Amino acid sequence: MAGSTAVRTTFSQPSSCSIRARQWTDNPLLHKGARFHYERLFDTIDAVVPIASDAVDDLAAALDRLAADPVDHIPAHALGDELARIRRQIDRLEAQFIRRLHRFDRGHGALAEGAVSTVSWLRATCGLTGGAAVDRVRMARVLAELPEAATSFRAGTAPFTNVSLIARLADDVGVESVRTVEHILTVAAEKLDVGRMRLLVACTRHRLDADGVLDEDNRNHDRRWFACDQTYGGVFVLRGELDAEGGALVRTALDALTTPCGPNDDRTASQRRADAIVDMASRQLASGALPAVHGQRPHLTVTVAAQSLQGAASQAPADLGGVGPIHIETVRRIACDAVRTVATVTDTAAPMSVGRATRTIPAALRTALSLRDKGCRFPGCDRPPEWTDGHHVKHWADGGETSLHNLVLLCRRHHRMVHERGWQIRLEGASRVTVSEPPGRPIHSRVASSVDGRLARGDQHRVDHPAPRLAVNAT
Ligand SMILES: [Zn+2]
Ligand SMILES: [Zn+2]
Repeated sequence: MAGSTAVRTTFSQPSSCSIRARQWTDNPLLHKGARFHYERLFDTIDAVVPIASDAVDDLAAALDRLAADPVDHIPAHALGDELARIRRQIDRLEAQFIRRLHRFDRGHGALAEGAVSTVSWLRATCGLTGGAAVDRVRMARVLAELPEAATSFRAGTAPFTNVSLIARLADDVGVESVRTVEHILTVAAEKLDVGRMRLLVACTRHRLDADGVLDEDNRNHDRRWFACDQTYGGVFVLRGELDAEGGALVRTALDALTTPCGPNDDRTASQRRADAIVDMASRQLASGALPAVHGQRPHLTVTVAAQSLQGAASQAPADLGGVGPIHIETVRRIACDAVRTVATVTDTAAPMSVGRATRTIPAALRTALSLRDKGCRFPGCDRPPEWTDGHHVKHWADGGETSLHNLVLLCRRHHRMVHERGWQIRLEGASRVTVSEPPGRPIHSRVASSVDGRLARGDQHRVDHPAPRLAVNAT
């Protein structure tokens, strides 16, 4: 039947559609007037459905031919043109779907099928998500009044995504307003990518309906919310919604902290964003600019028995205030560069004395460390001093000195790799840092290997820090 223009119309008595409709109108709860209205409507439906068009059969046949076409032998670079042509036909097909959907929606076809709305019918019958269904119903309703955009859409000249933006604009500001700029928008839809089209439509909306935009901005602001919940497993889940300005502020701050820390940074973009949120909080807390809570600067408190810090396995686990027990190696990392208060307790855990709070690395020594190391000393890392912790190569809990000979700056990520991931780091004099992978643990092997391509997992290697050495006596 290819090439045929004849339209085949078949009648069935009764159609499955009308059976459902009859059952529905037989509902005794239905208002008498409403039943009369729907019976008339379904009489009309009985007269016209089902319609089976040869064109759809032809389309199915064409798709069968497309599916039977072998593609494995075609070079990848030669497929681009075909992919673009298929995409254009998909857009044209969407246009035809929407042209019929307009008739279906206006004629209450969904109601006859027993659905409460066209959107719910699309979701149930066509497998669309709620958003996709709303999008198509919106397009069906407004494109009938925007002939230029509809024509371009049906010709495959303006793609579905761009026409959908025009339809959304018409829904927001009214078809009458959009008709005044329909030609400009249609030409733009034919030429612009979806990002630029979205921007143009947003600007057009501001011009056509500034008050409406302000109302929507205020509604978006009122809808803001944020939750930071700890799950049963201990991790925190962050969720929320911000208005455009708030979201842009957060993203700008995050972007400044999500750059990879050197060529060996193998974190995904998503992991870097997660680290950036923690960095933002950490830097804000460290700045001391936050308001005091209960007379104290806000801070994290970890309580741990001295023997546990030294690795005695039988001791009670460390406790991170407000969170719960944390691993002893995490405590050793936090304790590397923190404020320490020693409390002596009796056998019944009653406090006997509480000592003075002291920094595990005094401020003057921290300054000297920053001057010497100029940033994270892990090979390949470029994090500046203000993003780093001072790491005790031999932990102070194990008798390690708090001196330049035993300290090295590490960014949060590399400090974690050393403590929780088992990487070894050694400081030889002031200028040489040696790192080696955890034996038998293939974690982050790419980082070590890429520092020196010849190294195999478990090897040791030595890296000269490029920063000039400065002898500072600051104990
Ligand atoms: Zn450390
Ligand atoms: Zn680092």
